[in-house]
Amino acid sequence: MKRTVVVTGSTSGIGLAIARAFAAHGDNVVINGFGDASDIEAIRQSLEVAGARAIYHGADMSKPAEIDDLMATAAHEFGMVDVLVNNAGIQHVSPVEDFPPEKWDQIIAINLSSSFHTIRAAVPAMKEKKAGRIINVASAHGLIASPFKSAYVAAKHGIMGLTKSVALELAEFGVTANAICPGYVLTPLVEKQIPDTARTRGISEAEVKSDVMLKFQPTKEFVAVEDVAAVAIFLASDAARQITGTHISIDGGWTAQ
Ligand code: NAD
Repeated sequence: MKRTVVVTGSTSGIGLAIARAFAAHGDNVVINGFGDASDIEAIRQSLEVAGARAIYHGADMSKPAEIDDLMATAAHEFGMVDVLVNNAGIQHVSPVEDFPPEKWDQIIAINLSSSFHTIRAAVPAMKEKKAGRIINVASAHGLIASPFKSAYVAAKHGIMGLTKSVALELAEFGVTANAICPGYVLTPLVEKQIPDTARTRGISEAEVKSDVMLKFQPTKEFVAVEDVAAVAIFLASDAARQITGTHISIDGGWTAQ
């Protein structure tokens, strides 16, 4: 059956791979995120495979009214949201004493509060239908910390708590809520961090990759976006119906240490 899938922050990286994977299954997808309008339109068209339709909504995930409009538009265009993937996220790397307060607020808004807003919009219809999947793209940083990422680590730990609480509320309604915790995935978000981390730590960009990022990833390989998407597809499947209030790590062994 064709589902309605909303993926926030899906014009690039992990979100785009997740949108592509659901579209390939024939689901209708709603993509969201920033970027050049013609690039986004090309992405949208490329998702209309396997009989699926795709629409784009440009909601800024730091703005609750725009998030409400995204969720209302998805339901209006395709019917209720069956699968909600909260993926939009940004990063900022800085010692805590220099961390700009406005960056803190922005990261909490985009990486944490936006999921509260999408979830509260999606839940009534999911409860009524007694079916639904909420998938929050958290991070290894939802489980453990690294220095200089105070806002990101706080937001990602917060999303783990939100996931568990919502899972308990919805457990008897056939709705699951889970998190995916990737380690380092080579996406634009990570590529942008390399020069900042090099500057903050006073090391070369090559050393950031080998000694900082992959230092803690025992496989010594970046995670592929397609592999994260495959976890999302599984969590949305019938086979995952008893998996709720938890997370799946995909981090090359990082958090086993
Ligand atoms: P990315 O930068 O490639 O993609 C982020 C997406 O979010 C883009 O589509 C961007 O336009 C969108 N976005 C940013 N701010 C937005 C806003 N205010 N409103 C709407 N959309 C906005 O990043 P990515 O690496 O694919 O990250 C996706 C998610 O995965 C994030 O939540 C990130 O924290 C998480 N994650 C990434 C990694 C990694 O190593 N890349 C690891 C663990 C978790």
